[in-house]
Amino acid sequence: MTEVILTANSGSSSLKFALYPVAGGGPLLKGEVTGIGSAPVLSARRGREVLEVTTPLDALPVDATHEWLIARLLERLHSSFVTYQPVAVGHRVVHGGREFTGPALIDGRVRDALEALVPLAPLHQPHNLAGVDAITQCAPDLPQIACFDTSFHRTQPKLAQMFALPRALTDEGIIRYGFHGLSYEYIASVLPEYLGEGAEGRVIVAHLGNGASLCAMRGRRSMATSMGFTALDGLMMGRRCGSLDAGIVLHLLEQKGMATEAVHHLLYRESGLLGVSGISNDMRDLEASNTAEAAEAIDLYCYRAGMEIGGMAAALGGVDAVVFTAGIGQHSAMIRGRIAQGMAWLGAVVDEAANESGAAAFHAVDSKVALLTIPTDEEAVIAEAVRQVMGAG
Ligand code: ADP
Repeated sequence: MTEVILTANSGSSSLKFALYPVAGGGPLLKGEVTGIGSAPVLSARRGREVLEVTTPLDALPVDATHEWLIARLLERLHSSFVTYQPVAVGHRVVHGGREFTGPALIDGRVRDALEALVPLAPLHQPHNLAGVDAITQCAPDLPQIACFDTSFHRTQPKLAQMFALPRALTDEGIIRYGFHGLSYEYIASVLPEYLGEGAEGRVIVAHLGNGASLCAMRGRRSMATSMGFTALDGLMMGRRCGSLDAGIVLHLLEQKGMATEAVHHLLYRESGLLGVSGISNDMRDLEASNTAEAAEAIDLYCYRAGMEIGGMAAALGGVDAVVFTAGIGQHSAMIRGRIAQGMAWLGAVVDEAANESGAAAFHAVDSKVALLTIPTDEEAVIAEAVRQVMGAG
């Protein structure tokens, strides 16, 4: 029986999980259930080996809930996935508000505090909590630790977290929280391997996945980020618009008479790469397309990234290194190259061959800015947080 930490990332239609040895080290197993609510499918891998998934999980009922899936998953860990004994669970939780500046052991008080934050992240927080509650139901004695996407940004100066709104709204929590914090924490933790002492300098990290944001770091701490009160702000994304004149929202509501749900859907689901191209939210599809609309969507994506990078560079008073990560940042040499070329005014010079080959460092020798591609690993951050909380207990 191997004692393990279970990491869980419960989304609206997916449940990603991984098992890490308590003693330290990389994952023993990673898996996910996708299509929850429509056509659930479980897949799991141990290293390169794809695990055989047999009953009861292969016959996932269409109406399988997070609770049902987690209960089956825990059963399975004790049986045919060899014999893993989870001793603690680490959850990715999107919102920790102003209170949670680091991981938290979930007790009744913390559970209530997380519930109280649902209005700040109504799309994600309830699913994260469903994962917590499912484990409480089937394994009430298992310690559970919440790891927040917002915590990493709580080191920012106050000004970086403020909107120019009446003070009372700032006081009640309408501030820039920022997200993707677990990804940024991972990048911050490995930066010294790539930059040595330079890791403590002025670094901009571009997390370019389905959601996308930038983080300006100094001393490997967050100084500014492009996402704000919600994950709608900042960069253009797959389906989200990014920064928008707030007057447009008023116009849609007041002049066009749109319902709030319709505006919500427009901004979160129908905008970004999908909205501009009219083709797809997936960068791979746009790169493969030869239409003018796809080209313009890519142009706007890179232009907007360049503008936001300029803002991050201003917050840091210059930039020593830029890191690209997440699906697009890690895999698209074209987007990396274009965004980095747009930083020529900051002294960045791209080594095209190194960029094309996917090398970790792709700046030319005369570049004043180090350009890096680093795969992110949010689960590793969660596992390490659990080890620390359990070790401290
Ligand atoms: P999430 O943000 O959901 O965690 P990822 O970080 O994995 O997702 O990013 C997924 C996105 O990355 C896809 O929607 C796609 O646009 C993009 N992507 C993945 N691989 C490539 C690639 N080879 N070229 C361009 N874009 C890619």
